[in-house]
Amino acid sequence: MTQHDPRTVYLKDYTPPAYLVDEVRLTFRLAPHATRVLSEIRFRPNPEAASRDFFLHGEGLKLISAQLDGAKVEPELVEGGLRLDAPDAPFTFAAEVEIDPENNTALEGLYRSSGMYCTQCEAEGFRKITYYPDRPDVMAPFHVRIESDAPVLLSNGNPGERGEGFAEWSDPWPKPAYLFALVAGDLVAHSDSFTTMSGREVALKLWVREADIGKCAFGMEALKKSMRWDEETYGREYDLDVFNIVAVDDFNMGAMENKGLNIFNSSAVLASPETATDADFERIEAIIAHEYFHNWTGNRVTCRDWFQLCLKEGLTVFRDQQFTGDMRSHAVKRIDDAMLLRAAQFREDNGPLAHPVRPESFVEINNFYTVTVYEKGAEIVGMLKRLVGDEGYRKALDLYFERHDGQAVTIEDWLKVFEEATGRDLGQFARWYHQAGTPRVHVAEDWSEGRYTLTLRQETPPTPGQSDKQPMVIPVAVGLLNPNGDEVVPTRVLELTEKEQSFAFEGLAARPVPSILRGFSAPVILRQVQTDETRAFLLAHDTDPFNKWEAGRDLARAGLLAMIEKGDGPDAGYIDALGRAVADESLDPAFRARLLALPGEDELAQAIFEAGQTPDPTAIFEAREALRHAIADRLGDVLARLYDTHQVTGPYSPEAGDAGRRALTNAALSLLSLTQGGDRARAQYREADNMTQQIAALGVLVKLGEGAAELKAFEDQWRHERLVMNKWFGLQVGAAKPEAAAGIAEELTRHPDFDWKNPNRFRAVFGALAGNTAGFHDASGAGYRLLADWLLKLDPLNPQTTARMTQAFSTWKRYDEGRKRLIRGELERIFETQGLSRDTSEMVGRMLAD
Ligand SMILES: [Zn+2]
Repeated sequence: MTQHDPRTVYLKDYTPPAYLVDEVRLTFRLAPHATRVLSEIRFRPNPEAASRDFFLHGEGLKLISAQLDGAKVEPELVEGGLRLDAPDAPFTFAAEVEIDPENNTALEGLYRSSGMYCTQCEAEGFRKITYYPDRPDVMAPFHVRIESDAPVLLSNGNPGERGEGFAEWSDPWPKPAYLFALVAGDLVAHSDSFTTMSGREVALKLWVREADIGKCAFGMEALKKSMRWDEETYGREYDLDVFNIVAVDDFNMGAMENKGLNIFNSSAVLASPETATDADFERIEAIIAHEYFHNWTGNRVTCRDWFQLCLKEGLTVFRDQQFTGDMRSHAVKRIDDAMLLRAAQFREDNGPLAHPVRPESFVEINNFYTVTVYEKGAEIVGMLKRLVGDEGYRKALDLYFERHDGQAVTIEDWLKVFEEATGRDLGQFARWYHQAGTPRVHVAEDWSEGRYTLTLRQETPPTPGQSDKQPMVIPVAVGLLNPNGDEVVPTRVLELTEKEQSFAFEGLAARPVPSILRGFSAPVILRQVQTDETRAFLLAHDTDPFNKWEAGRDLARAGLLAMIEKGDGPDAGYIDALGRAVADESLDPAFRARLLALPGEDELAQAIFEAGQTPDPTAIFEAREALRHAIADRLGDVLARLYDTHQVTGPYSPEAGDAGRRALTNAALSLLSLTQGGDRARAQYREADNMTQQIAALGVLVKLGEGAAELKAFEDQWRHERLVMNKWFGLQVGAAKPEAAAGIAEELTRHPDFDWKNPNRFRAVFGALAGNTAGFHDASGAGYRLLADWLLKLDPLNPQTTARMTQAFSTWKRYDEGRKRLIRGELERIFETQGLSRDTSEMVGRMLAD
């Protein structure tokens, strides 16, 4: 049904803009319900364009007046904008429009959040501010004047004149409208400064509400580290006199890279030891870096159109992953990235929402800010780097910045710089951008007289709209180990380009044990017949940390699948191997914490479905719980020792070493409590002086069904901290027994602090419900019904967040007839609702399509 949606936009229909913009002047007269926006835009005909159709985007605007070169004109108001007969020569178009920020609940364009004005324009929000060619290939310098009695008035670029009730800003760097930003409110700044590599001083300010001024120091340090890192690693220097970050409570996404004025969801920037966990600190550091890095990859070099979104996002995610690896641990970061990719992106690739990293069509572009575009997009950049080497990568990036600075470009331009800088033909590699789906790589081995041969065969299953898949270029990093555990062939990258290909290793004394796809060298699913003995051997001996972890994960998965499908008991061999690995003090505690985490319920459901069977969410949940009990039982002494010997003493620091130790002790605590009760957790809760320790202990107690008093105490302690209360809401649903999850979520929606119009709060409850796999998929259908009811309630106000959250239903075809019927019923109920947003109808339509 979506194939024929008349609102569909296609990549193949791209045409250059009829007119380009040389300069934009905007004046904002801010008022909650009737803000006036005056624009003066200097246009000139685009020599590259075939037509002279003068069309400006505009949505929900009240046009007061318009002029062309000073003469009053009456443009034709059409669906989505306005049209006007324009000269085939340079001219100035001016307009005055009125908008209503107070009633802008979609949080796109100019809106109000807790009394403060702010904007979100990516992807197509600027058209809700004024009439403009709202497309990324129209770049222009912006001059902005804000008139308001709010004490702080901010926009992009460098500050200009300011006085009583007004402030002016000028951004000399041409930019697309999606990077425009404005903030006005009663804010205070945490200030600092940075000296760039060429010696320029940049004033740094992190703007927050007064109550949050104590939660800025970490974000500011992260910003300075990011600025230094981008100079040292990519040679990229910051280019304005000021860099402003603003924290906003009501925000659909994590953060936005507007030129010189980043706007952040407060959850992605505010942190103190008492209110934020180690994971929050790490996430904040990564998001600050990500948005900062966009200044070059996204802002100075931008996307020609929204189909090229991965050009800026894939590259910038890759850059923030490198940064986090440098700041913390590359091995642990790689494991975390692979876990996210498998849990979210492989899930997307294997369902009705699968799409290429560069999609070919969309109805609502907001629906394509996906894990495929971002995370798989980053994997492609990582593969490119692996294939051309570090030096080739650096040369290509230097050429990319030099050639395309100030331009709006495409994936073809991006690949071309790699071809020119390295001499490599990337014709086949380009398939990663337009072929959807996760490739499977099957492994066969052969050994005869000193010669070991690996035969790799690739196949990619069909995805919606793409049935016939071509072979990809897959870098497969391989190392070989001797049976005694020594490495005989260090890591080498095999390039799999054919459907099937063999690689021989000569001169070996004994049949080796292969370690394949080291460092998760490509976003593929490896299909390898391996005995549990081999997996245990790799867990003990592999020199590649990713594959060492992977071997433990494979063992756990195989054991769990045997428990679920054959009714086997927990695998003692796995537990003993795990025990030896986590007790190995030569290994990083953060790494060992990852070893203790079992494959997730959704991941197991996917594996069962792929093996041609129907996953039972309850059986999966019970098998995981049984294995956790067995681990706690058999490794009780090891876990208790880890818990005691790795406690962090002294004042809290979010740095990686301490965070890794807390991750390890909390993983041990969670297991130990299953067999030894809640005393340790209660003591930890009482003594905690930081949120990591407090919330971990609370989670353990709630899971045990013993946390009522602590939940109450936690609420009393933190009721005035919005971000902490999100955790309180989410934890109760996430840690709930499956049969109780929907009921608890429903009860929480009646809590006076359940401000459902705030995306963070809505996600806290319903994101946790969707994440409680067995609870969400409880056979009663209560979880499905509750989520559908609330999505229908939210859709008229905030289509973007609603559409995103419909993805909880995207795995529906995996399940049994009863669950399928229930989910299908809810999806149809949503789809058939009158006045459903374009965002949500596209998502639900794709999920229902055959
Ligand atoms: Zn981004």
